Amino acid sequence: MNLILLGPPGAGKGTQAKRLEERFGVVQISTGDMLRAEVKAGSEIGRQAKEIMERGELVPDKLITAMIVARVQRPDAQKGFILDGFPRTVPQAGALDEVLRENGLTLDHVIELRVDDAALVERISGRFTCASCGEGYHDSFKQPKVAGVCDVCGGTEFTRRADDRAETVGARLAAYHKQTAPLLPYYAAQGKLSSVDGMAEMADVTAALSKILAPGA
Ligand code: AMP
Repeated sequence: MNLILLGPPGAGKGTQAKRLEERFGVVQISTGDMLRAEVKAGSEIGRQAKEIMERGELVPDKLITAMIVARVQRPDAQKGFILDGFPRTVPQAGALDEVLRENGLTLDHVIELRVDDAALVERISGRFTCASCGEGYHDSFKQPKVAGVCDVCGGTEFTRRADDRAETVGARLAAYHKQTAPLLPYYAAQGKLSSVDGMAEMADVTAALSKILAPGA
């Protein structure tokens, strides 16, 4: 099963993708995570992407498409994948259609997580992650049970994404509305688009997604 989770930054794509990974035995492919790893490693791609990401803009289609073309052909993606953060433009969606076709793969679902912009700013600007295991937390919605200690691994260092600052969030939302929202009619025309209320409780969102992916279960 291959699917795309679409939605603005902060809609919960990453969180839900991780939950679906376990439930459906598929792999999450997050272009944001891949780019952050490149930036951390100081690679050529990372150098090209760093400032663009910090401004909240989209990196060039060519760069991101080359990354994804290689990624979906790796062995672990053959059991199925969830694209989280890709495609983000119509040309990227076209490139994805092409690589899937060339590899005899199909896209089964495109699911939009609907969230309003006002909620997104609060969601994004409060989030932080454990530096050791990557567990996600939030200043208002999900603090560690013991302050300063990760619930999952006991780590005591936490990080915040450079582009989660309030000043950058506006630019990221603008990029979503201008460049990514046109993907909704693109996939609706292919008959693949469904939509879920991303404002609901996390578990309810997972249940709604699971119902679309495995209607009889
Ligand atoms: P994300 O973690 O998905 O919010 O992505 C963080 C940042 O990485 C974005 O704001 C973009 O600068 C860049 N990025 C991630 N995925 C893409 C993509 N598919 N196309 C262009 N830029 C991307």
